[in-house]
Parts: sequence; structure tokens; C-alpha cells
Amino acid sequence: LPSTSISITVFESEPSASSRSQGGTLDIHTESGQRLIKAAGLLDAFKKIARPEGDVMKIADKHGVLHLDEAGEEAPRLSGKGPQDLGDRPEVDRRALRAMLIESIPAEIIKWGSKVAKVVSGDTGYTVVLADGKDSEVFDLVVGADGAWSRVRPLLTAETPFYAGVVSVEFHIHDVDSRFPDIARRVGAGTLAVLSDSRGLFAQRQGDGSVRTYAMFRASGEWLDEKAYDFSKDKQRFADDLFPGWSERDRELVLKANEDSVVLRRLHMLPRGHRWEHQPGLTLLGDAAHVMLPFGEGVNDALLDALQLGEQLIEAVKEKQDLSKAITAYEEGMFERAKEHVEES
Ligand SMILES: Cc1cc2nc3c(=O)[nH]c(=O)nc-3n(C[C@H](O)[C@H](O)[C@H](O)COP(=O)(O)OP(=O)(O)OC[C@H]3O[C@@H](n4cnc5c(N)ncnc54)[C@H](O)[C@@H]3O)c2cc1C
Repeated sequence: LPSTSISITVFESEPSASSRSQGGTLDIHTESGQRLIKAAGLLDAFKKIARPEGDVMKIADKHGVLHLDEAGEEAPRLSGKGPQDLGDRPEVDRRALRAMLIESIPAEIIKWGSKVAKVVSGDTGYTVVLADGKDSEVFDLVVGADGAWSRVRPLLTAETPFYAGVVSVEFHIHDVDSRFPDIARRVGAGTLAVLSDSRGLFAQRQGDGSVRTYAMFRASGEWLDEKAYDFSKDKQRFADDLFPGWSERDRELVLKANEDSVVLRRLHMLPRGHRWEHQPGLTLLGDAAHVMLPFGEGVNDALLDALQLGEQLIEAVKEKQDLSKAITAYEEGMFERAKEHVEES
């Protein structure tokens, strides 16, 4: 959009591009995320930050038995399925991906430190009201790309995300190659998933060489409230409570984590098939439209939403067509795709 006649403003609540670590690594799929990157002319920039060698999976059980080791098989970038040097699902750090996208558009488009409180409908369009009380100019179209707790969504639908009964606790081990070479070898360049008892430890190699592990398990809200001890200070108790009898070398993914990097998240999702009646001048994309449990599609869907909405808008403006027709076409495609992925998640 920035290279067209369409004038855009992005309101972002974070104070700057570097204000938060942004979290772990993501695999960017050929059929979705990579399509936006290509369309935006960012393929070369992406190749500089992508890690095709990270697209390898190991799956083990709680006894330490390895059931799958893709690292021992043909390297994915040589599989012939994707561009030769990227592979189908190269990994990239969130921070690097975000920086690449931010740097690709004129700096004045993003209004940092602008937390949106609500969006108000008027006679000639929509006004964005910021948390500091300031009003924006009037816009023809407002796109809520503001994540699970969108401030735009209430104008379109009464649905809000519900707790899906799954918890993710994130543990991060810095300098893993020098401090814990056994863990480094076991995780390798990609992802190690240790799965048993309907629980999982998902350890992922990051671009800086560290290892980030998501411990995921089902838990009721009451159970969590009862167990509300500080996981970061009491990792031994956490490992004993949640992963008793699991092989010690996999429990080390938790036990050896740096204290300052433990994050607990109650995972929320919108209902499968979430949709709304089209309203002129308003739409949603990404988690705002279809937050789901993390299984590798969330970011890819958000990027594909952005591409498909952008293409529809550019075409409508070029052909001087009704924006509502373009947005409805985007929404119908997105609703179908999201329904499938929310169900799978
Ligand atoms: C533990 C975990 C692991 C995950 N792993 C993966 C994975 O491996 N692969 C994958 O594809 N997906 C993964 N996901 C899902 C993925 O993170 C999301 O689907 C994706 O980030 C959605 O992108 P988004 O831009 O729609 O929303 P977000 O990433 O939430 O971005 C929203 C943006 O809007 C800003 N914002 C929010 N509210 C306001 C406001 N009121 N005013 C102004 N700005 C605002 C935020 O600061 C942020 O910059 C994971 C999610 C979790 C929780």
C-alpha cells in the first residue's frame, strides 16, 4: 500500500520499533507468509534473516526416546518444494521479521506510542480515539490489526476470545552452546518437541543461538489460580508438578532456564467460524479476526490476510470501485481459511 496513492496511518501502542523482544522464532510458509514477503519485494531482505536450516523437527517422548529426527534426513532446503535457498518453512526471529517490515515503509506512517482506546463512527468515516484522549483525522477505512484484544473488533462483533484451557509457560536459556552443550546438541538447529501425557515441551533454537522452550499443558482456570506460585523462581516445583517422571535431560529445558525470562500465558481463542456482517469502512485481520491456539499458522495467516486485503484495496482504488465490495471479497476468503485453521489448532 505505501507505494500506491492510498494514504495510510498505523497507530502502534509500543513506544518504538525496539521496545520489546517480541518473543520467539516463527516458520514462514511458502503458501502464505512468504507470498506477502514476495509481493512486497522483500524476498532478498528476508533471505538475509531467514534460517532454512531451522526447519527441522525432532519428536521425542518423556522417556527420551526419539521418534522423528528430520535433522538426520535430507535438509529441507534441498527438498525441491520451495525456492532452493529458502525452503518451505524457514525460521525467522520475530524481531528481525518485524524490523524488516517496518523498515520497508516510510517512517512517518507509523505513529509509535499511540494506544488506540476505541474507534468511533461518524457521518463521513471513522475516527480513532487514542488512550491519551486525542482524536485522529477521519478515515475512510479502519483495519483492526491490533491482535487478540482488538479495540476495533467491538464495532463489528460482540465476540471476545475465551480461555481455551491450555497454558503456555515460556523458558529461555541463553548461551546454550557454551553453558549446556548437551541441550544444544539435543535441540539442534530447529525444534525439539517432547510429547507425552497430553503435555509438551517445545524447544526452539533462536537466531542468537539461545533455546526458547514452551511448556504447554491443559489446566483449568481454578487449577492455575491455586498453583499461582512464581514459576520463574520455582522451576524445580514446576517441573515436578507438570513433568514428573520425564527424562531429566528434557526437564533441563525448564530447570536450566534463565530466571528473568519465564512467561506464563493462558491461551485464548475466538470461536471456530467467527465472522461478522460486513460494515462499510471497517475490517479486521490477523489475531483480531481469528486468534487461535499456536500451531504455526497465526503469523502466516496474518501475513496472508494483509496481502489479500491489500490486493483487493489496490485493485478497487485503481478501478475506482466500491471499497465495500473489495473488503467483502477479502473477508469471505479470510473467514473460510480461518475457520479451518482455528479448528485444526
Ligand atoms: C506462545 C505463542 C507461540 C506462538 N508461536 C507461533 C508460531 O510459531 N508461528 C505462528 O505463525 N504463530 C505463532 N503464534 C501466534 C502469533 O503470535 C499470532 O498469530 C500473530 O502474532 C498475530 O499477529 P497480529 O499482527 O494479528 O497480532 P499481534 O502480533 O498481537 O500484533 C498486534 C499489534 O498491535 C499492537 N496493538 C495491540 N493493541 C493495540 C492498541 N490498543 N493500540 C495500538 N496498537 C495496539 C501490538 O502492540 C502489536 O504490535 C504464537 C502465539 C503464542 C501466544
